Amino acid sequence: MPEIPPLGIGRVRAIRNWPDPVLREMAEPAGELDGDSIARIAADLLVTMYDAEGRGLAAPQIGIPRRIFVYDAHWKTDAPHPMVMVDPVITWHSAATDIVEEGCLSIPGHPVAVLRPTAITVEYFDLSGSARRADLTGIEARIVQHEYDHLNGRLILDLEEPDASALPDV
Ligand code: ZN
Repeated sequence: MPEIPPLGIGRVRAIRNWPDPVLREMAEPAGELDGDSIARIAADLLVTMYDAEGRGLAAPQIGIPRRIFVYDAHWKTDAPHPMVMVDPVITWHSAATDIVEEGCLSIPGHPVAVLRPTAITVEYFDLSGSARRADLTGIEARIVQHEYDHLNGRLILDLEEPDASALPDV
């Protein structure tokens, strides 16, 4: 697990697996919680994500139906760069899409080919409560869309691309 000082308050939590009903809830806004509670949830999410060797984790996956997720796209091969998004909203997505096989820590051993836009804009709050905006492409755009779906009770099982196996190899 990467050594990141702010994670000191975090602890590894049990990851809820499908079909746990918390994974199907519409998560409530996180902004109405106090800052310490948000920071603790974020730290638990990051510690749990790194412990599980994942690249993204949303609060419902540790049994907390609040709109917070964390991700770190490249920590396995690069320096850790933990990201926390509180009350995120995807405000734009590209018309261009691609299909990529995704895994989910709540659905172990069942990767699913999912079609998604290749670029997004997401507006969110950081841990200091500041409004932020990120324009994302590639793996970051894909992870954020996956985690955002968790906040709305949506899973990769709902998005399975039926014709993915019939796609021509190009
Ligand atoms: Zn997932």
